[in-house]
Amino acid sequence: MVIDAHAHVFKPLVKNDIEVLEDSRKNGVEAVVNSADSPKEYNRLLKQHEMFPDFLFVTFGFGPSRFYEYDLERAKKLIIEHKKDLVAIGEIGLDHYWVKDSTLQKRQREVFIELIKFSNELNLPLVIHSRKAEDEVVNVLSQFAEVPVLLHSFDGKPPAIKKALDLDYYISIPTAVVLRKNYKRVAHHTPLENMTIETDAPFLSPIPKERNQPKYVIYAAKMIAEIKELELSEVITQTTKNARLFYKI
Ligand SMILES: [Zn+2]
Repeated sequence: MVIDAHAHVFKPLVKNDIEVLEDSRKNGVEAVVNSADSPKEYNRLLKQHEMFPDFLFVTFGFGPSRFYEYDLERAKKLIIEHKKDLVAIGEIGLDHYWVKDSTLQKRQREVFIELIKFSNELNLPLVIHSRKAEDEVVNVLSQFAEVPVLLHSFDGKPPAIKKALDLDYYISIPTAVVLRKNYKRVAHHTPLENMTIETDAPFLSPIPKERNQPKYVIYAAKMIAEIKELELSEVITQTTKNARLFYKI
């Protein structure tokens, strides 16, 4: 049985969220970690966790691509208030694809550092987003993070991968590894001991033109087995173990 270490299956993004989660559970997924991007989504996730306490796990985050639209202080208050229902803080990070303005990038970095320090204080692990900023993300984390780190859908170059592995971070390979060379390269350079698998559903689908969902996480496991010439069962057992260790679930 597989674990989807990172997804966004919740309203309003996924209208039939409960149906999709139930269907995933029936199709071999033993847990899903749903990650909020903004305080607007926190309530829906808490409700899902209440409905599926041993299956659906929650992280509260602060999306780096639209961070300026949300209230950081409110987010921090909610995180403290619901700490016992959370398995990590995230996703947080740096996004230089959507945020190109240098003043905003500077502010994004400040928010990122502030939230890393906040995670240290609360002793909650970190789920990290990075886009067009992989080296900087790993650099900032190496300076400030004192908690376990998972780099979700990471597609850094080999030196950034090496630095992350030296720090014993987890690297989460998305289902889009089926279609994209850059994720294949990351899977090739990451040992199974430091790897988790994820869908990032409803994004990064392994099937063109189809919405992604947690039950497709098996696509990532199969492709990793192929790339690393391992048995599928070995990939499943190790990535499930890693996800349980990282999130303490
Ligand atoms: Zn995500």
